[in-house]
Amino acid sequence: MKFNSGNSIGLLGGTFDPIHLGHLHIIETLAGKFDQIALIPTGQPWMKPETPIAKPKQRLEMCEAALEDLTEAAQEKAFVIDIEVEKSGLSYTFDTLQSLRAFFPRDNFTLILGTDAAFSFNKWKRPEDIKKMAEILVVKRPGAKPSDFKELEVNAPDISSTDVREELAATGKTTKVSKNVMAYIKQNGLYGSK
Ligand code: NAP
Repeated sequence: MKFNSGNSIGLLGGTFDPIHLGHLHIIETLAGKFDQIALIPTGQPWMKPETPIAKPKQRLEMCEAALEDLTEAAQEKAFVIDIEVEKSGLSYTFDTLQSLRAFFPRDNFTLILGTDAAFSFNKWKRPEDIKKMAEILVVKRPGAKPSDFKELEVNAPDISSTDVREELAATGKTTKVSKNVMAYIKQNGLYGSK
């Protein structure tokens, strides 16, 4: 990892319960736009109606497993940051950006948000300060209402982690996650997989 290098870094935070092919599509599509792309699994997500099923460490390990399933070009850019998983208490993006600044003093951050995240953004902790600390790029789901931010249509497959969990609970399998993530889910008996 290059530190203090003036790189452009895309930050994709998420609960990743589990990380799925929609997330990987976003990373692969944006890989060409940034010097690096960081995946930041949340520890204890704020504003989620329910607690994640998989433990923070398991969600982190699924992100790490998923990296190996990316295209080679995307693998060269992508890495996982454990800052929120290692911290106790709720995960706030403002706090994360502040902590990351210490490690990456001269790099330019772009916070990559999905449509739902973009529409809840004003309720986050210190949204105006977040906008000063990072650019914001919204990856639009097809047909989604436009947000107030810079947007990019990425045509990610229409998958949600909830769909994946439901499918696994009902059938024990899914084609909506990558190979290594499926192997991890099975090894750890997550989401009712067999
Ligand atoms: P998530 O469900 O795991 O998804 C991660 C991101 O990928 C989301 O922005 C999501 O968009 C996007 N995405 C997933 N599947 C997609 C698809 N098929 N097509 C297009 N986009 C897709 O993550 P999350 O729980 O929403 O959390 C997102 C981030 O917001 C996290 O870093 C969290 O910490 C942060 N957050 C911070 C605060 C705060 O600081 N107070 C409050 C809430 C959230 P959608 O948003 O459309 O699902």
